[in-house]
Amino acid sequence: MNRDAVVGTTVLGRPIEAVVLEPPKYARPRPPAIVFGAIHGDEPATRLQAERLIEELLDRPPGRETWIIPVVNVDGLLGGAKNNANDVDLNRNFASTNWTAAHPGGYFPGSTAESEPETQALVALIERIGAERLIALHATFRTMNWDGRGRELAQEMGRLASYPASGDLGYPTPGSFGSKYGADRNLEVVTVEVPYLETDERAWTDTRSALRWAVDLPP
Ligand SMILES: [Zn+2]
Repeated sequence: MNRDAVVGTTVLGRPIEAVVLEPPKYARPRPPAIVFGAIHGDEPATRLQAERLIEELLDRPPGRETWIIPVVNVDGLLGGAKNNANDVDLNRNFASTNWTAAHPGGYFPGSTAESEPETQALVALIERIGAERLIALHATFRTMNWDGRGRELAQEMGRLASYPASGDLGYPTPGSFGSKYGADRNLEVVTVEVPYLETDERAWTDTRSALRWAVDLPP
């Protein structure tokens, strides 16, 4: 049964909501997938991508249990800010081996790793359900970026979206989601980056087949 879930609470006390989509009974058992948008609150196109994907999967179920969180940084999104309500860049707040308190302006990683409730919510969910395929939605570049075991998946997603695929964004990302779950834990992590100024609907249509593929057919 598909269902709604609350996976955590933001700094300002707002619920972080997820939709859980179940595969058909005949599907081969696979570890669950998580797709999340708007960990950066100024990337609203990623919310639309996630919401459209939910609509599609309600009609045609995914090939594995799939948790979709359209908005991780609810306070940031409502305030039009990249960071959360403590002005932490949540994608620098994960307890990866490369987490560091040193940071350029605008990239405050938190006073300690995983200090933020939004980060804690994702971490707890991944632990609890044993997810191994993790799809992070961002809006900056136009690329499918992989970490850990995500290379093959990112390349196929790139082919489907006509996006380049890469294992290197070209700059260091200490404390990022990909650092912890890809580099450190060797899970299958793909960061989908749609162009920052992409219209929301095009962000979805361009990546639709790729996102569908990620929760569907591959082993
Ligand atoms: Zn981002």
